[in-house]
Amino acid sequence: MTDTIAAQSTAYGPAAIGILRLTGPEAISIAEACFRPYNKKPLTACASRSMIYGELLDCDGAVIDYCVCVYTPGPNTYTGENTAELQCHGSPMVLTLGLESLFKAGARQATAGEFTRRAFLNGKLDLAQAEAVGDLLEARSRESARHAAGQLSGALSKKLGSIYSALIDVMAHFHAVLDYPDEDIDPFRMEELSDNLSAQESALRALLSTCRRGQMLTQGISCAIVGRPNAGKSSLLNALAGYERAIVTDIPGTTRDTIDVSAQIGGLPFRFIDTAGLRDSDDPIEQMGVERSRSAMEGADLIMMVCDGSEPLTAEDAALLEQALSITDTLLVWNKADLPAAPVPVLSLSPEQERRLRIVEVSAKTGAGLEELENALKDLAPLDLGSGSYGELLTNQRQEDAARRALNSVVRAREALDMGVTPDALLTDVEEALSAVGELTGQSVREDITDRIFSKFCVGK
Ligand code: GDP
Repeated sequence: MTDTIAAQSTAYGPAAIGILRLTGPEAISIAEACFRPYNKKPLTACASRSMIYGELLDCDGAVIDYCVCVYTPGPNTYTGENTAELQCHGSPMVLTLGLESLFKAGARQATAGEFTRRAFLNGKLDLAQAEAVGDLLEARSRESARHAAGQLSGALSKKLGSIYSALIDVMAHFHAVLDYPDEDIDPFRMEELSDNLSAQESALRALLSTCRRGQMLTQGISCAIVGRPNAGKSSLLNALAGYERAIVTDIPGTTRDTIDVSAQIGGLPFRFIDTAGLRDSDDPIEQMGVERSRSAMEGADLIMMVCDGSEPLTAEDAALLEQALSITDTLLVWNKADLPAAPVPVLSLSPEQERRLRIVEVSAKTGAGLEELENALKDLAPLDLGSGSYGELLTNQRQEDAARRALNSVVRAREALDMGVTPDALLTDVEEALSAVGELTGQSVREDITDRIFSKFCVGK
């Protein structure tokens, strides 16, 4: 039998409200032992799902807070079990004493993600939805939150469900062939099976094509900020992020390491990587920074190259711009627009390079042009917001790996079938595809994968 767990579900530190949460068979009786309704009735004599005002008692039975209790008998709860919630004043001491009291009455401390794990084990959420809970908690932009909410509502699970059920159909046909080996297989039936496998292949390919967008939404669109030392990269980063994150000095070469800063721009999650100034240097520490800058550009979704617009463009700058354009879309930022401008350089670019380049003029110092800069970043972001509904994306490596394995197995089965191999010989491939799709929603998930997913949650969720 499962035990009853308790945890503080709200963040630590003084706040208006703090919530203690219980789930398990004894959740209601344990809450009853630590909470005295103001109307003097036993807790269970008050209506479930209603907000019951009363006193929270510590281990010695002394009143430590006046709070609200809501209890809900299972199975129609988040976890599927009996649950109770104590909505207290958000005092860290009240919550600590309240929790101690719940433990003394028989609950034990919940581990990270244990509430959602129970919801999964009791069939309240599938694994893709449980992962969406984690993504929602960590969403750093409006779009990320909308996608996580879509996945939580079951949008991805529905897509996967239709692939799963189509593969079950194919399995059923193949098993029928095994059961009646003497009967000839109808050529029409063979074609139907092959078409079905092709359709699942397309569906899996379409799903896999969402991985990049999904990962950008959860991890941010990576944008490497490059340019000569003192061009104003750190100042711009601070202006974009809205706070002093990078140290700004006028000694060239201060930003030696790369700094990651997350910022929401136009509702999209961006992850800026501030790199050390790209320049030849004898200083071994700085050389390492330069190396890191190059690798940051290589892996970036976008590059923002910052130039000091009051100084002429050097051959080094032109070479850096060329390098950036050979990697990905690049935003060339003429900074220090508040100073007298140097002569505008003539850039000789190929049509392909021109297509990848956007230019904006700004002043990190006065803030002029920052809005145009933000709009340009949003336009260049390789995140097509219009396509697909919210939540129909693969957002992490685990999902991508499983979908890829499913696709490979489906392709193997379909090719073999088209080559005339008998269906019974293809059962293993279809079984593998099914189990990989099942892993995505947890239908055949291995225990170790489940452990990994829930361990990333916070305690009380
Ligand atoms: P980084 O080395 O490229 O990161 O450059 P910093 O952001 O550290 O800036 C170098 C110097 O240029 C600092 O003294 C900044 O105050 C100054 N600076 C940055 N942006 C502007 C700007 O738009 N106008 C002016 N006048 N100075 C700026």
